[in-house]
Amino acid sequence: MKVFKFGGASVNSAAAIRNVAHIVGQQKDSPLIVVISAMGKTTNLLEKVIPGVPGNEQERKTLVRQVTDYHMSIADELFDKRRCPTVERLSELFDQLDCATQKTPTTYNFDYDQVVSYGEIISTTLISGYLNAIGITNTWVDVRTVIRTNENYREGIVDFGKSSLLAHDKIGMLTEKKRADGSYPIVVTQGFIAGTDKGTTTTLGREGSDYSASILSYCLDAENMTIWKDVPGFLNADPKYFKNTVKIDRIPFNEAIELAYYGASVIHPKTVKPIQNKGISLNIKSFLDPQAEGSVIGPYESIAPMTPLYIFKNNQILLSIQPKDFSFIAEDNLQTIFAVLARLNIRVNLMQNSALSFSLCIDYNDILIQQLRRELENDFRLVYNTGLQLITIRYYNQAIIDEIVADRTILLQQRARTTTQILVEN
Ligand code: ASP
Ligand code: MG
Repeated sequence: MKVFKFGGASVNSAAAIRNVAHIVGQQKDSPLIVVISAMGKTTNLLEKVIPGVPGNEQERKTLVRQVTDYHMSIADELFDKRRCPTVERLSELFDQLDCATQKTPTTYNFDYDQVVSYGEIISTTLISGYLNAIGITNTWVDVRTVIRTNENYREGIVDFGKSSLLAHDKIGMLTEKKRADGSYPIVVTQGFIAGTDKGTTTTLGREGSDYSASILSYCLDAENMTIWKDVPGFLNADPKYFKNTVKIDRIPFNEAIELAYYGASVIHPKTVKPIQNKGISLNIKSFLDPQAEGSVIGPYESIAPMTPLYIFKNNQILLSIQPKDFSFIAEDNLQTIFAVLARLNIRVNLMQNSALSFSLCIDYNDILIQQLRRELENDFRLVYNTGLQLITIRYYNQAIIDEIVADRTILLQQRARTTTQILVEN
């Protein structure tokens, strides 16, 4: 069995969906699980219509209409008849979405999951229906009955034991046997969303569809998993920031985890662990050039080709925390600071301490910084610089650092054996 994951950009138009159908149709030598995200920027739109989110009724209606029209115009292009079972099912889903956005608010995280999950339910309904209509026979599975999480809405914690049992029941059974015509079964299901024991919907965190594909690969002991992207593979830098990128053909599992941790956007940080535990390789391939080789994350010793890897993180701030009572920054003060950071769920991207000050680099988020200030201001003075960029370079040398930093001001730099991190003014 193989697992394919298609993200929002790979299914954002009728032409894109035809291309996905072409890729899926080519895969004939094993059962296939196709995991799909919401189409295009649908999740961003749905985030604006969560009950309780500021905005008036007119705006809500306009946004729901926008989501409906976007999908319906794609369905119009893909289906011959205006009235077919898939389009009818889609109409029902848009009515349900409209209702869900008008519910009385409960808690934000719960309401969020009940609404944004429509993005994936709708995209998979449309695409599964289209594949069946053109002869790529498949079964639509509601992944909320397969991937089980706790009730940590917006970032559900996966129960791998329960999910494995459910996956065997709901998907494994479907894909066990070849079909009468000798072809292998195909399952189409959703990324990003999951379900609780109570039957409520949860999500796995933004951009979580890679993780969904990895969970299913783990649960079903897939042969391999492929993420189809708009880049040729795992590049040594984001082409947005870098002209001469190099494709890395082979990446060790641990290297991929490190890179995702430092902020490489090519895969979701949680994706690698489950497949690494079962030794399942992950291919990253281009949906624009499906025959091209792509990159493989697998059980390798080192990256190949060996080349420096760059990760750029924008919108960083450097926060300096100084005790007001002129005590030194020591373990007791650090303990207080970290307790607050953990409580507010603030991730530290880089940190350094001196006798009188503790400095940390974090993602800019006005609300969280105000909360942090409120919690610490009794005992500490807080000052910060905004608008910074954090550059992480693995396999660096001095010439590379000089070139990247050029004449920009460095606020903080750390060097370890393979990795250097440099915080600069943008
Ligand atoms: N649709 C979700 C998001 O945009 C999940 C994903 O795309 O991976 O965050
Ligand atoms: Mg997406």
